[in-house]
Amino acid sequence: MANISLGNVCPRCGKDRIVTRVYKEKTSSGYAHYKITVCSDQACQKIVEKKLDDEALKRGAIKKEQVRREEERQKNIKRRKREDSE
Ligand SMILES: [Zn+2]
Repeated sequence: MANISLGNVCPRCGKDRIVTRVYKEKTSSGYAHYKITVCSDQACQKIVEKKLDDEALKRGAIKKEQVRREEERQKNIKRRKREDSE
């Protein structure tokens, strides 16, 4: 029978993941425990890391675009207010 244990099996290749680091971080409600795991297959782990990097970059770009749009929106609101008072 398959041993389904979330977080312990690589979602990409299904091999066991190895815990490389365990750490805790202080949060407002106490401590959060984190486990850093990597795939036992080094080649697969590299591909997974590359994918995560790409996603992080994409997320960063989206966030920047959201900030830019929000700034643009605020500017327009201010401009409209100025025009109203004239
Ligand atoms: Zn893997």
